[in-house]
Amino acid sequence: MTDLPELDLRTLWHPFTQMGDWMDGRPVVIERGEGNYLIDTEGRRYLDGISSMWVNLHGHDHPRIRAAIHTQLDRLAHSTLLGLANEPSIELAARLVELAPAGLTRVFFSDNGSTAVEIALKMAFQFWQQHEDQASRARTRFVALKGAYHGDTLGAVALGGVESFHEIFRPLVFEALRAENAYCYRCPYGLRYPDCGIHCLESLEGLLERHGHEVAAVVVEPLVQAAAGILLLPDGWLKRARELCTRHGTLLIVDEVATGFGRTGRMFACEHEGVTPDLMTIAKGMSAGFLPLAATLTSEEIFEGFLGPVRDQRQFFHGHSYSGNALACAASLASLEVFEQEAVLEHVREMSEHLARRLETLRRLPAVGEIRQRGLMVGIELVQDRATREPFDAGERIGALVCMAIRKHGVILRPLGETIVLMPPLSVQRGEIEHLVDALAKCIAQVTGE
Ligand SMILES: *Cc1c(COP(=O)(O)O)cnc(C)c1O
Repeated sequence: MTDLPELDLRTLWHPFTQMGDWMDGRPVVIERGEGNYLIDTEGRRYLDGISSMWVNLHGHDHPRIRAAIHTQLDRLAHSTLLGLANEPSIELAARLVELAPAGLTRVFFSDNGSTAVEIALKMAFQFWQQHEDQASRARTRFVALKGAYHGDTLGAVALGGVESFHEIFRPLVFEALRAENAYCYRCPYGLRYPDCGIHCLESLEGLLERHGHEVAAVVVEPLVQAAAGILLLPDGWLKRARELCTRHGTLLIVDEVATGFGRTGRMFACEHEGVTPDLMTIAKGMSAGFLPLAATLTSEEIFEGFLGPVRDQRQFFHGHSYSGNALACAASLASLEVFEQEAVLEHVREMSEHLARRLETLRRLPAVGEIRQRGLMVGIELVQDRATREPFDAGERIGALVCMAIRKHGVILRPLGETIVLMPPLSVQRGEIEHLVDALAKCIAQVTGE
């Protein structure tokens, strides 16, 4: 029999991975998924504590989604959206418009989050270039936040504010205007919410006052800056950012790739603050974690900016081979049915509360600096010294060691630096949460030597 781990070490190049380090180990090869568990080729079971990199919603083998994919496969796997339409993509677009914040009326399909962001950027840019008001053509720049993560393609990297991922590519990409985020645990102004009055928003306000006339769009992850370490934007931040964009006549692009589809306890995070963006990107949970699928939703105003006689060349010159893939759209439609039939959002809210209570038990561990949670998105920042909030030395790889240790307890996690991320499937159960948090407590204690 082929030795798959050995073959992997010889042939694959894994994403976001130091392959030298990888090749010193032996990969866990996943063979099957069962509910919220992954099972490897040696028969070991692991709770999928990060929803397979934040994509899975209802478990790995949900019968309704599997059936929808099978049924669609018997009819059509894929046909192009260039010059043709297909059934599942139409039905899904209509359903998404019903569910999305009011005012988003058009759906442009693609197949991953980075690409959905590229599309939003190009749409916003082209929208202003063909705007009837001449002055609007000066709107060529984008505002993004510190700590932002919007994907790995070059436009998305231009927006990116995670030094370790993005710095090397700076010479290659356009220069974004950078506004403060809200890393309240390490507030650069030394203030505390809510007394601070969300002082950090003045940075965005100031940028828009100075550059507003040249800004095409402000791009934000709503409520949770996920890849930055599950940083939480304080309540009211998004709503006020929306108001600032409106006042300065610029577009707001909300990137719901990580937060969308129930992760925060609402279908979309924007809903918590009653915000409608001009463009919204979705991916990750969109197909419940079964197939690659993404979309960029826009207002009718943006859409109409691209209408005109063919000879005027105002159409959006962009498309992908797999846009509106029939199998992925069928999976997504089935997932949206599951949300209704199984009252998924209620379950998420219940499990979020249960998780919050269990996480309290981690506070007794001296290395636990801060616990950040929004719905079923959790970041636990580990620190060397809780009193001074002094971080661990990155070279110690404390986060990675904790996540390796917890595998022995049958749990898969992946950290963001020294922040342990918990993002279980929406279908996570009480007992699974208990096991997850208990095992984590043991591993943090063991790795940090307490
Ligand atoms: C993961 C992520 C992306 C990129 O999505 P991919 O499908 O990995 O390209 C974009 N934006 C946010 C907020 C994300 O979390």
